[in-house]
Amino acid sequence: MYLTIKTNLKITPWAMDVIQRYGIIYHKEFERLIHLYQQAGKIIFIGYREINSEIAFHSKEQLIRLAQTFYEIRKKHATAQYHRLFVLSARSFQLKDDEVLMEFGRGFMKYPLRCTILLNDHQKQMLRQHEVLRMDVCKENKYYVVRFILKTESILSQHTQENEISMGIDLGMKCPAVCYTSDGKIKFVGNGRQMKYEFRRINLRYRKLQKSNNPVKLKNYGHKLHNYKKHIDHCISKDIVMYAKQQNVTVIRLEKLLNLQQKFHRHDMICWSYQRLANYIEYKANLEGIRVEYVNPYLTTKRCPKCGKINNVKGRDYICNCGFHKHRDLVGAMNILHAPKA
Ligand SMILES: [Zn+2]
Repeated sequence: MYLTIKTNLKITPWAMDVIQRYGIIYHKEFERLIHLYQQAGKIIFIGYREINSEIAFHSKEQLIRLAQTFYEIRKKHATAQYHRLFVLSARSFQLKDDEVLMEFGRGFMKYPLRCTILLNDHQKQMLRQHEVLRMDVCKENKYYVVRFILKTESILSQHTQENEISMGIDLGMKCPAVCYTSDGKIKFVGNGRQMKYEFRRINLRYRKLQKSNNPVKLKNYGHKLHNYKKHIDHCISKDIVMYAKQQNVTVIRLEKLLNLQQKFHRHDMICWSYQRLANYIEYKANLEGIRVEYVNPYLTTKRCPKCGKINNVKGRDYICNCGFHKHRDLVGAMNILHAPKA
């Protein structure tokens, strides 16, 4: 699996000029290759010698591959644009404590360019431990940003079935997440009421801006709800995985929900991204060496965990005739723990 480390580039005006000029050359060469493919109507062989000598030697292969993938994308979407300034493969740059040395092509610059990067201790440790594949340089709102792509081996624990602790998670709107471990521990994660309040507040402001006829402000504000939801999903998934790690959980079980949009027509249900949260949990759990399993969601909210009877639930409380009485979402998490695999 791949990991991305993002950091800001601290550069002098001179270095900025160099980076911008190289970015323009890189884009020109990139467009030229795509044009060659388009003329031929298919992907043809292009040797290293045919590529501009101003491009860093070890990054030429990367450029060719990028042009090939982009040629396929342009077939479907003619206006697709490449947004990064340039990409350097691992052999074209060197990392030293707080500095990165970028090598460009012979025709462009003889000496490597030295730039300061801002890394925290965790990022430094990650860079030391894992193999760095490439470096992307982009411009984001006036700032120059570097992304290091690392390759990590997901070390999934291989315990035997007996001493395995698993955890069922029920995700929902009112209670964002409920965790139930196989040794009987319960944790509620997130605050659904606060989330709903924030969604409504942002939506209301957005609707007011729609009337005010200010397109720039409206566009900028439009990202806000999306960003907030992503932020919330990151917080919830982080809390869940931290808790799972504390409890020595080896398997996390989630529901495999499909076609949510067809089942629910209410607005708030459609806005809720189940899959994104599940993906975040899976990604973060795998980093910690925890496996994620998807289970069949059939009757997980209705079945009584004690006697197996199917009850219809109204409100937040689950009450069964056998005397079982628990919170509704907790029952879901308990059932997910023992549900069959999807
Ligand atoms: Zn019962």
